[in-house]
Amino acid sequence: MRHVAIVGSGPAGYYSAEALQKAIGEEIRIDMIDRLPVPYGLIRFGVAPDHQSIKAVSKRYEKVALSPGVRFVGNVSVGDDVSIGDLLGLYDAVILATGAPLDRPLGVPGDDLPGVVGSAAFVGWYNGHPEFAGLAPPLDVDAAAVVGNGNVALDVARILSKTPAEFVGSDIVAHAFEALGNSRNRDIHVLGRRGPHQMQMTPKELGELGHLEDAVPHVDLADFPPAEADAALEPGLRKSVTHLRDFASLAKDKRKTIYFDFFARPVAIEGDGKAERVLVERTRLGEDGRAIGTGETYHVPAGLVVSCIGYKTPPVEGVPYEEDQGRFANRDGVIGEGLYCVGWARRGPTGTIGTNRPDGYEVAGKIAEALAGRGAGKEGGDGLDRLLAGRGAEVVGFDAWQRIEAAEAARARQGSPREKFVIVADMLEAARG
Ligand SMILES: Cc1cc2nc3c(=O)[nH]c(=O)nc-3n(C[C@H](O)[C@H](O)[C@H](O)COP(=O)(O)OP(=O)(O)OC[C@H]3O[C@@H](n4cnc5c(N)ncnc54)[C@H](O)[C@@H]3O)c2cc1C
Repeated sequence: MRHVAIVGSGPAGYYSAEALQKAIGEEIRIDMIDRLPVPYGLIRFGVAPDHQSIKAVSKRYEKVALSPGVRFVGNVSVGDDVSIGDLLGLYDAVILATGAPLDRPLGVPGDDLPGVVGSAAFVGWYNGHPEFAGLAPPLDVDAAAVVGNGNVALDVARILSKTPAEFVGSDIVAHAFEALGNSRNRDIHVLGRRGPHQMQMTPKELGELGHLEDAVPHVDLADFPPAEADAALEPGLRKSVTHLRDFASLAKDKRKTIYFDFFARPVAIEGDGKAERVLVERTRLGEDGRAIGTGETYHVPAGLVVSCIGYKTPPVEGVPYEEDQGRFANRDGVIGEGLYCVGWARRGPTGTIGTNRPDGYEVAGKIAEALAGRGAGKEGGDGLDRLLAGRGAEVVGFDAWQRIEAAEAARARQGSPREKFVIVADMLEAARG
């Protein structure tokens, strides 16, 4: 028998488990360890609550979770409850699939003022991540700024713009649903350092902004290159730019406006003891495609500033780390003898859910090759259970997660698939049944 521990039950973790089953077959035993009592990582806590069709990918992971030889070992944090050394002693291979849950700071004066939040915190708040349930972002403000030009910034701008009726069918948590419903926010400025041709928002999601009930996007066509230049763009980006150009002709007849401020680099957050405005420098594109400051500045009013500028993987004791990249030091997923990484912990926070699949398959292939022809494997899960019992850990298995899931579905408000527990103690109570 071969025993593999996968740390992290997000997409990268589940694709790796699926790939290991294919590569090694019946001889594999997999423990998926997660620090939370609930599985699926950013599928639960990152992907927008109003994008349920994307969240449905968890059904595929559930199939893997319920297959023979795979266990969910929830509520166990690697680095706290067990060390990497413990796992390497017990398993034939250890895969780190811990994602990149730490916000990169804006790095400008005033970025620590109340009212400035990172997207991991803000997204975690509306998606019910236990660490951010108490965030209480200021929504009793007229204007907000969203820093970044990727899909996370787009999610945040859309969530800030929707009416309560537009959240029907979503699994947005009650505290966020209520706070957003009472918000008096009218202006949302999306600040991007570069121009429309450099934006990273995907067309389907961007197009949604043109059909909101009470909000309308606004662009300044002076920020755009001549329309002929769009022809040279990659098709997805070309579609996004077409959406942006179309936004210019939409009637401005709704309560909220989502302003796209291109060539706009935040240089400071200002305010009297809290965020009140962003000082923005106009930029232009340099020869190398980077944003260059022009020295011209202006203010954008913003009592809430959400920075969506990327994430880092938290270091784990005993695992080499690349500080500048914010991920584990690895060569094609290999960290060292018996230790691997996949997903955002391997590559950094880029790509879609599906981008994590090839990572899992590549690393599973390497593990299968490394273990082929080796003698008896290590002890695996029995050893982990003994160790965790000795340390008094309360492990949540997949059946216990299913009890949490059923309890959440039973508490759901009308029109919502679930009402998530946002406190670990409540999850554990539901897990005990
Ligand atoms: C706001 C947001 C919205 C997104 N929306 C989309 C979208 O609509 N479509 C799309 O295709 N992609 C989307 N993505 C990208 C997608 O979520 C990622 O590609 C994917 O989740 C990365 O998978 P992962 O397994 O590497 O990390 P994660 O999903 O972050 O999973 C990591 C897991 O590791 C666990 N963990 C971390 N540290 C430890 C530890 N020390 N011990 C034990 N467990 C630990 C965590 O609890 C978590 O469960 C979005 C990302 C974000 C941030």
